[in-house]
Amino acid sequence: MNSLNPDPSSRLQPHKHPFIDGKPKKLLIGGQWREAVSGKTFTSINPSNGRPITEIADAGAEDIDLAVHAARKAFETTWRKCKPLDRQAILNAAADIFEKRYEEFAWLDSIDYGGPISRTRSGKRRHVGLLRYYAAQAVSLHGETIENSLPGDFFTYTLKEPIGVVGAITPWNGPVGNSLWKIGPALAAGCTVVLKPSEQASLSTLMLGQLFLDAGLPPGVLNIVTGAGATGAALAAHPGVDKVAFTGSTATGQAIVRASAGNLKRLSLELGGKSPNIVFADADLDEAVPGAAMAVFANSGQICSAGTRLFVERKIYEEFVGRVAEYGRSIKVGEVFDPETVIGPLVSETQLNRVCGYLEAGRSEGARVMAGGRRLSEGDLASGYFVPPTVFGDVRDDMKIAREEIFGPVISALPFDNIEEVITRGNDTSFGLGAGVWTKDLSRAHRLSRELQSGSVWVNCYQAMDPAVPFGGYKMSGYGRESGIQHVEEYLNVKAVTIKVS
Ligand code: ADP
Repeated sequence: MNSLNPDPSSRLQPHKHPFIDGKPKKLLIGGQWREAVSGKTFTSINPSNGRPITEIADAGAEDIDLAVHAARKAFETTWRKCKPLDRQAILNAAADIFEKRYEEFAWLDSIDYGGPISRTRSGKRRHVGLLRYYAAQAVSLHGETIENSLPGDFFTYTLKEPIGVVGAITPWNGPVGNSLWKIGPALAAGCTVVLKPSEQASLSTLMLGQLFLDAGLPPGVLNIVTGAGATGAALAAHPGVDKVAFTGSTATGQAIVRASAGNLKRLSLELGGKSPNIVFADADLDEAVPGAAMAVFANSGQICSAGTRLFVERKIYEEFVGRVAEYGRSIKVGEVFDPETVIGPLVSETQLNRVCGYLEAGRSEGARVMAGGRRLSEGDLASGYFVPPTVFGDVRDDMKIAREEIFGPVISALPFDNIEEVITRGNDTSFGLGAGVWTKDLSRAHRLSRELQSGSVWVNCYQAMDPAVPFGGYKMSGYGRESGIQHVEEYLNVKAVTIKVS
């Protein structure tokens, strides 16, 4: 069997995909696939080899306007009035098709953003689960009755109403999952959507658009507009958008806050991170070594909650960090369709240059390179954007690599001596997305879980994500929660109704 194509009966071939048919990809507006009004396109690049994959429509302000109007019309005429059971049926129908065709989505994401097939495939349970979770939420929304103290006889209840038109803007680091994380709760709540995927990896989201139409979603409920930052900015500023749901960098999140001021849009923002991952000497080190390594190396470090500040108790620092470095050297960096590959390329040349800049900063500030440290510039992978797992030892808190989000497979390992100190240093960051704690001491685990300022704390595990468990940021990692019962609430307005009974 060809290792690049583990299923010989599959229609899918490495670097070939039925969705990549040589024709430019169009925008989905009001249930129709159409070119940008300007006729402009941009080129999507394969990060494994730097070559073009396809052309994609480049949406401008006129296209955003058309899409927002289509979403408004669909909101007023169909989706808002659609019964919960009918919304659920469509989400479940989409989940059924998605589950059957999951392999096509996994392959497309591997080509488009460079995620190894071992990773994109392994998302099936989570991604199908997300859709089914939101389908269940569609029939679980309810207001409440309130005992009030008004003089006389008054009855008060609340209604939960969909906010309206949602502008969703996603990054490239897990394209299909990022899109489902926006579409699912919005549709469950009764909102309509204009979704702008990242210009680095738009293809699986476009394929998802057709899937939802095939599942029976009425035209205009989900619109997809492709393009770069200017397209996103036009969506974030459009007065017909009631809420923006954004995942991406903190700088862009701040731009979206400013753009939202015109009509005071509701916002949910899932932004950057520089998460502490804290290993005590009493931890099960055989579990903690791969746990700490993959808390960063997974997805080539392109995960906002990656545990990039690895705090290790001083008495095991040398041994532990040495083992993490050895683990990093042992995992395969390679071609994305090789099932053994764990580390694929970074998404783009820009990202490669950014990460290489941090590697240089780490070296010049005096950190010790214990694994990796330079891009792969020789051999078969040299034309792609590959950086091997990198571990810096002897890192100080004030170094650039300990303070700024790198978004590459780079661990900054810092020694610590006691719990008070590591709480203070762990929290000494403007971010607050995730945190890890490795220990067998239950009291210590509970204490740190309370003290660490982050939206998620993982004890003796890292990045354990579930559709029912809320995820989101403290501080400059953003606000709002995704997954969990809190998520759909982000897409609902609360209306209080008070009736004088007598
Ligand atoms: P990343 O570095 O993860 O790509 P970005 O924040 O640059 O993070 O991009 C995330 C998403 O935000 C992408 O879809 C991108 O096109 C979009 N985007 C970039 N700039 C803006 C902006 N000013 N307003 C709205 N969206 C933007």
